[in-house]
Amino acid sequence: MGVEKEEFFIHPTTELDENVIIGKNTKIWHFSHIMKNTIIGKDCNLGQNVVAGPDVCIGNGCKIQNNVSLYKGVTLEEDVFCGPSMVFTNVFNPRSHIKRMDEARPTLVKKGASLGANCTIVCGVIIGKYAFVGAGAVVTKDVPDYALVMGNPAQQKGWVCECGEKLNQAFTCPVCGKIIKQESASLAFVDLAAQQQRILPQIEKNIKTVLKHGKYIMGPEVIELEKRLADFAQVCHAVTCASGTDALLMVLMAYGIGPGDAVFTTPFTFIATAEVIKLLGATPVFVDVDPATFNISVTKLEASVKKVSQAGQLNPKAVIPVDLFGLPCDYDQINQIASIHDLIVIEDAAQSFGAEYKGRMAGSLGHAGCTSFFPAKPLGCYGDGGAIFTESDDVADKLESIRVHGKGNNKYDNIRLGINGRLDTLQAAILLPKLEIFHQELEARRNVAKIYTQLLSPRKNFLILPEVFSGIKSAWAQYSLLAPDKETRAHIQDMMKEKDIPIAVYYPMPLHLQGAFADMGYEKGDFPVSEDVSSRIFSVPMHPYLSKEDQLRICKILL
Ligand SMILES: *Cc1c(COP(=O)(O)O)cnc(C)c1O
Repeated sequence: MGVEKEEFFIHPTTELDENVIIGKNTKIWHFSHIMKNTIIGKDCNLGQNVVAGPDVCIGNGCKIQNNVSLYKGVTLEEDVFCGPSMVFTNVFNPRSHIKRMDEARPTLVKKGASLGANCTIVCGVIIGKYAFVGAGAVVTKDVPDYALVMGNPAQQKGWVCECGEKLNQAFTCPVCGKIIKQESASLAFVDLAAQQQRILPQIEKNIKTVLKHGKYIMGPEVIELEKRLADFAQVCHAVTCASGTDALLMVLMAYGIGPGDAVFTTPFTFIATAEVIKLLGATPVFVDVDPATFNISVTKLEASVKKVSQAGQLNPKAVIPVDLFGLPCDYDQINQIASIHDLIVIEDAAQSFGAEYKGRMAGSLGHAGCTSFFPAKPLGCYGDGGAIFTESDDVADKLESIRVHGKGNNKYDNIRLGINGRLDTLQAAILLPKLEIFHQELEARRNVAKIYTQLLSPRKNFLILPEVFSGIKSAWAQYSLLAPDKETRAHIQDMMKEKDIPIAVYYPMPLHLQGAFADMGYEKGDFPVSEDVSSRIFSVPMHPYLSKEDQLRICKILL
């Protein structure tokens, strides 16, 4: 034995086999049996009729109530609570006539977990730290850290604090105030796991519902989502589709844009914005960006529209302003120019869904708005998805037709050319619970942005920080900074890499210099602001679950 007998208490009716180690201050009560090679830590309390061993390891500070047996393969870390008469199994499929003891599967209960009275832990699982298993539950699979599970088979019902109280949606304990942060191996650029951890039960429930009803194409979840999206964006119609790219394509198709038409947009955006224009045979006309917002320059837009009109070769038809990094463009001015020149305004809100412009929601700021549910966008699904917003019944009808091969009264009555552009029911089912917490997440993003700006303000003369404009709330898809020059940006990238902090460059090359548009005759120097910004810009990690400690870590490198 490892310690002197006087340092722990064992009731005389309890049996100790050979080579047992028992820690200081541990108490073992009546009629228990500790089998060989078992280690019990200090400050434990084992009730009556507890069996432990052989080869079992029980950490410090565990409480094991009456009538619990811990057979070979069970390991308890520190401070585990085993309620009265709870059961650990050790063979998965026992048969009396087949010897299976050598098939015993190990069970690990991590630090601080509580296993309620009469619950059963099927062998082979890991119970996460501070997890809570309700009384009578039958646990058949791993339980995440801090999870609350109940029932047979045990299902996750929420999250609990280290103190045992249920956590609220913000992962904060309403009783002790502690904020629980799951340990993540490294700092993520966009942490989708933190969000998933928060709403996993709802997502799983919704996916199961879809698997049950089997309406994988245009199921009830799609219809429900469209209603909720329209409410969120405060527009009459939200038409979901297969991606942000399809959203842009379908809107251009609905407005009949094609060869001979000029569509004005920015060269400082993701390729999709201009790609769809060219795919339809129309001509993208690039207009340089404003250096303060990285969004299309309103004065340059007006000049460009006039120039194209006067040249008389192309018909100025539409403008696609892009709300880059989540910041809405200046729509009052854009809409005014558009109305003078009879242009359709198609808002590329792929990055700005959730943003606000003078009390109106991004997506609703032009004739039609397009967004993307690509996983890393502010509102993302688990695959590709998108939506179009419009006030026009006529445009919405056309979009619904274009989405299904230009259908008329039915799928086999084709009144125009369309595409297969539907959103999967499964993606809608995943988006519904994400939309529920989206307002909170937007607030959290705004807070993260505010903290970045506070932390980095001493470096204002060195780095250019994103500006905040009155009346506008960004969706903060990215927090993007300008380095003084290309070399400094490369140096910052190296330093971040060394510290394992992911940063990104959106976008390293403006579209007018991309091979896909080489036939259009643009040259280096045509859009000096976009070219300059591409050479100096970088974005730091941004998501609603970024902790202040992580932000400090990131900013330390820039200070
Ligand atoms: C992401 C994005 C798109 C395209 O969205 P997908 O869903 O990836 O097709 C279009 N425009 C902008 C500005 C984007 O950021």
